[in-house]
Amino acid sequence: MKILLTGGAGFIGAHLAEAYVEAGHEVTVVDDLSSGHRENVPGGVRFEELDIRSPEAAALVEEVAPELINHHAAQMNVRLSVEDPLFDADVNVRGLVNIVEAGRRAGTRRVVFSSSGGTVYGEPEQLPCVEDLTPTRPVCPYGVSKLSGEQYLHYYHHVHGMGYVALRYANVYGPRQDPHGEAGVVAIFSEKLLVGADCVIFGDGLQTRDYVFVGDVVRANLACLETGYSGPINVGTGRETDVNELYARIKEKVGGSGEAVHGPAKEGEVRRNVVDAARAEEVLGWRAATDFSDGLGATVDFFRSRS
Ligand code: NAD
Repeated sequence: MKILLTGGAGFIGAHLAEAYVEAGHEVTVVDDLSSGHRENVPGGVRFEELDIRSPEAAALVEEVAPELINHHAAQMNVRLSVEDPLFDADVNVRGLVNIVEAGRRAGTRRVVFSSSGGTVYGEPEQLPCVEDLTPTRPVCPYGVSKLSGEQYLHYYHHVHGMGYVALRYANVYGPRQDPHGEAGVVAIFSEKLLVGADCVIFGDGLQTRDYVFVGDVVRANLACLETGYSGPINVGTGRETDVNELYARIKEKVGGSGEAVHGPAKEGEVRRNVVDAARAEEVLGWRAATDFSDGLGATVDFFRSRS
């Protein structure tokens, strides 16, 4: 299948590009390398360094005329979205519309979109978050822009017949995640502990997340090629882990002299998050398969091999 993948030089996108190539698909990657790296893009892929907001990127989509667009390019820094909501909306909303609108003109039949199960639900009253039951009330601009992306895709489906799946990822972790970003706590702790540095845990460390391994996320994307379903699907493990436990598990893998230091709580941070993945199983036949300890081990090994 002819696939146009945005964000394919990033953490999740690069794993996905590899899997698509391995499965024999014809892949074009669009990425402006703002946080991604050229060397992440596997061989056998056409790579174009373009901003998803540009007319050149739209023209490329029309030239390639992909059957499927997989949209992973985004500004994904929650704190930056609070500081500069206009930039966040520009990349995440206008960028998506630019690419998808070009796809519509080119006859693209389906879109897969990396949405965010960690932010579109905001601060839910009940956990785990269920797609059609939990209200979507994001409490950061990034969550708003991701939800807007989903709503545009609903529009394109309803009016123009383009199918879509919005994969609402929980917290994705694994090899190649940026250890210098503000997200990616597994990468951050791994790298710090490997060099013997202390790790800062914001607040009491009892805030929870649902950590899902990047290999499982890639399988969910591949499963989207087999479904005619359109709508949102949570991608997570259904298991809540607090930061103190996460730190202890990574420390156990790494050893070393670094310690946990508690710092002030992060303002506006969601206290608890975990998603229900029953729909993913029903619609995609997907469930998270990677044991947490194995996933953390693979991630630590990756950072160890680089240090
Ligand atoms: P990442 O930063 O590694 O990947 C994003 C990629 O998009 C980068 O390669 C970057 O260079 C590219 N990009 C950014 N702005 C661009 C622009 N204007 N034009 C072209 N390319 C641009 O992050 P990631 O963790 O791999 O996230 C991939 C996607 O998954 C994002 O859409 C993110 O919002 C979503 N997501 C990630 C998580 C997570 O836990 N990592 C959770 C929920 C959703």
